[in-house]
Amino acid sequence: MTATTAKKRFGQNFLHDRGVIQRILSHIRPQAGDSLVEIGPGRGALTEGLLQAAGRLTAVEIDRDLIDALTRRFGPSLSLLVQDVLTVDFRALAHASQGPLRVVGNLPYNISSPILFHLLPVADQVVDQTFMLQKEVVDRMVASEGSKVYGRLSVMLQARYTLERIFLVPPDAFSPAPAVDSAIVTMWPLPQAQCQVKDWVIFERLVADAFSARRKMIRNTLVAYEGRLDLAAAGVRETDRPEAVAVQSYIQLANQLTIERTG
Ligand code: SAM
Repeated sequence: MTATTAKKRFGQNFLHDRGVIQRILSHIRPQAGDSLVEIGPGRGALTEGLLQAAGRLTAVEIDRDLIDALTRRFGPSLSLLVQDVLTVDFRALAHASQGPLRVVGNLPYNISSPILFHLLPVADQVVDQTFMLQKEVVDRMVASEGSKVYGRLSVMLQARYTLERIFLVPPDAFSPAPAVDSAIVTMWPLPQAQCQVKDWVIFERLVADAFSARRKMIRNTLVAYEGRLDLAAAGVRETDRPEAVAVQSYIQLANQLTIERTG
């Protein structure tokens, strides 16, 4: 396998547009002292600028064929974890770096949602996350209730982060060009005091159940909880579709179940 062959199974679309790379770096504004973690450095398109500004960087790369070139190019200031990012213990990384993390990356699109869900439980160890993702995924992440693309991903992430779509990136910024448009998104974990979900396991299950059939009314998708939820108290009508229910209402509904269990 030569360094020039991109591997589809690892979602490899390498950034080559200098203007786009610079724009992403200017938005991230890496600083000396930042505990930066890059997911999927690939051939180092973002790594170079991140390291120049921050002086050190941890990167997680699954593809062993890219490691030699990265090590030769960046030397010991780049700490490389050669593993699947879904097996990385980000809490341990934050403890080792003695500070909350700034997580960045042009993510492999085939596992972007699993990566976002892997990072969710360690949001308390994160300053911010800036990612390149498929535009449609970013649209779903930032969607408000009432939107056609508002769903489980929107609710789960907006309950824990403030999110902002930063700018769009066209396919020709990459080699090979992906078949889809891309977008940069930044996520800032909400301060602990604003984080109202009492039990994330209950919350996650309720949200998944609510969206199990988008066209059904919420009283039907949540029928398993009958008698245990006060929809009106959470500002929800029985006839609402799941996509009409606000994040805050889902949080209140899940907390009703938590209080019922612990109360
Ligand atoms: N950052 C580079 C760039 O912008 O040109 C590469 C981005 S490419 C879209 C995604 C990168 O993530 C590739 O280097 C790929 O090998 C790596 N990758 C894919 N799956 C991974 C996983 N499960 N864990 C860690 N890295 C992974």
